Amino acid sequence: MKIYDFRSDTVTHPTLAMRQAMAGALVGDDVYGEDPTVNTLEAKSAKLMGKEAALFVTSGTMGNLLAVLAVCARGDEVIMGKQGHTFLHEAGGVSALGGVVMNTIPNQPDGTLALTDLEQALRSPEDIHQPISKMIILENTQNDCGGVPITAKYCDEVGKFAHSHGLFLHIDGARIFNAAISLHLPAKELARSADSVTFCLSKGLCAPVGSMLCGSREFIAKARRLRKMLGGGMRQAGILAAAGLVALDTMIERLAEDHRRAKKLAEGLATVPGLRLDKGTPYTNMVYIALEPDVRWDAPAIVKAMEKQGILIGDTGPRTFRLVTHHDVDDEAVAACIEAFVKVMNYAI
Ligand SMILES: *Cc1c(COP(=O)(O)O)cnc(C)c1O
Repeated sequence: MKIYDFRSDTVTHPTLAMRQAMAGALVGDDVYGEDPTVNTLEAKSAKLMGKEAALFVTSGTMGNLLAVLAVCARGDEVIMGKQGHTFLHEAGGVSALGGVVMNTIPNQPDGTLALTDLEQALRSPEDIHQPISKMIILENTQNDCGGVPITAKYCDEVGKFAHSHGLFLHIDGARIFNAAISLHLPAKELARSADSVTFCLSKGLCAPVGSMLCGSREFIAKARRLRKMLGGGMRQAGILAAAGLVALDTMIERLAEDHRRAKKLAEGLATVPGLRLDKGTPYTNMVYIALEPDVRWDAPAIVKAMEKQGILIGDTGPRTFRLVTHHDVDDEAVAACIEAFVKVMNYAI
């Protein structure tokens, strides 16, 4: 039986072109700054984001952590969404390793943080009782809000707000290329008001490993030292960077296909008895669905039943799921997924 994996775009395998590029990659010791392939990837990434410099890091989690550590001292505070990846899914690293306080405010259904909430979250720098606000983190696309793209106009507004209060704006752009493709603009437009931005090579772009952290030369120099401190200094990392270059050269425009399939999947699932779209029609590659009240089974039971049909999906709560489209699920997979849901829901209601 064919297995289709809709749990995440992180399950994508490197393409043949990536494996070939990896085999032939020129390498050197990147801790000495001597890996030509890493250097090329960093220069290209910086340019794509409209920043001075970039750093190849092991993961998006490390990229976000380095951004916070480069800017905040112990006891400083970062403001972010309650549904932010850095708050929910990064093992509390900024607090555990940096002593940095996370001040969370609600995400609006469109993924944004309300400017009034940001304003209220700001601390008074004169008050010795309070931590010092140093940074705001936005996420684009906002994963837990439905993979929604955040507009350039909104990012500019937050950038203006941050800078007028002496704060640093970091964008967790794990899927910033999904946002850019969905909004029909270059990714750097989304990053233009940010002081730093991370993006993942290893999700929809299909590279096996790695993320990029981009920002000013001074900021990246600090992040480079911190990466070494965290044990993230890699040696002949050009083997990995080679796949990253193929990802940037060939996999960005292709994300539109994932978005088209996510819409098709959502349309199909919306017609299945017992299911409804949880966060509306998808804008990018994520489909969130929920069980209607008349469904007897809970989400884990349905995940198991779907697995028996050869479809892997993830539950996000007792009665909700996330399905993600990516390079390794084609039109046939989408049709198979809808068909499997029809079968399973027949028993589940
Ligand atoms: C995946 C993800 C990250 C972290 O990336 P890893 O490479 O898995 O550490 C950060 N932010 C968002 C929004 C993500 O989806």
